Amino acid sequence: MRVLVYDTHSYDRDFLTAAAAGRHELTYTSAQLDANTAALANGFDAVCLFVNDRATAEVMAIFAAGGVRCIAQRSTGFNNLDVTAAAAHGIACYRVGYYSPHAVAEFAVGLLQTLNRRIHRAWSRTREFNFRLAGLLGRDLHGQTVGVIGTGKIGTIFARIMHGFGCPVLATDVVQQPELLALGVRYVPLDELLRASDIISMHVPLLPDTHHLLNATTLAKTRPGVTIINTSRGGLIDTASLVAAIESGHVGAVGLDVYEEEDGKFFRDLSDTVMHDDVLARLISFPNVLLTSHQAFFTQEAMTTIAETTIANLDDAAAGRASANLLGT
Ligand code: NAD
Repeated sequence: MRVLVYDTHSYDRDFLTAAAAGRHELTYTSAQLDANTAALANGFDAVCLFVNDRATAEVMAIFAAGGVRCIAQRSTGFNNLDVTAAAAHGIACYRVGYYSPHAVAEFAVGLLQTLNRRIHRAWSRTREFNFRLAGLLGRDLHGQTVGVIGTGKIGTIFARIMHGFGCPVLATDVVQQPELLALGVRYVPLDELLRASDIISMHVPLLPDTHHLLNATTLAKTRPGVTIINTSRGGLIDTASLVAAIESGHVGAVGLDVYEEEDGKFFRDLSDTVMHDDVLARLISFPNVLLTSHQAFFTQEAMTTIAETTIANLDDAAAGRASANLLGT
């Protein structure tokens, strides 16, 4: 198939080209998809998209008129696709149903330990030959209560790792994992988890009922000094309320790999520009906040699986084969 790959960075090109092994004709563009860039795909059979490419109903119409009949989304989440509009135009949409949940769970642990032991601050100090320890005091994780919100694929692995550290683990989910129950993880209502946890890690998807799950009301229920980790989706947290809770000293530390206004900022080098997002600038200014730009998935293993699955989805589309990754089936 002739495929236009949108929003490409060097690493996308490397992994996708290797996975395709010449099977499809891949053309790469750094352009992000929107109504203005959709016509770039005229004459292509398929497009390959990432999380911030916006495939709206208007874009689907442009794709259909230009001959595009397949979308291969190179992520699990597909909230950027108007799948109803795609179906109306006969455009088949595929996603990557599964890739390493270890990548994200391990990254959440990395954020937690970096904040807890002030490793981010130590790193910048020692680069200036400042070897003082004042201000770097941490705590043993062993014995601290960890609350896991969402024990699906990623949350389950995170809970297992924290159990290995010797932490009592509480969890909230609509489904209970037998393997976590066997480890002694206690499922409790959200309010109890908020009140009892020293550390809270978010692993639920962003849905209408999880939007701003952490807000002024729920943050007020958390323990003073609580550490909050979010590697899931920015919209789970009302960021303005979070900033207020950090400023008041109630929240002790925050690790964020996602941010509700990340679109147009994350995955870009904005170091030469003035940052107009005051909330983001304020977050980054706190010494007890560690913000990364949606990189939790970014491991060799995850990128290899994402690329191989994306190419396999294109193979299936070209051959007209059934696929579990075809949306709406
Ligand atoms: P999953 O579907 O396996 O697990 C989600 C869990 O949340 C499920 O157990 C579900 O029952 C639970 N849940 C849903 N709604 C809930 C609610 N209202 N209350 C309590 N529990 C609820 O998903 P996963 O693979 O573990 O991924 C979790 C999230 O991680 C994804 O939705 C995605 O947003 C995020 N993610 C982030 C990155 C990154 O790079 N930062 C990469 C992959 C995934």
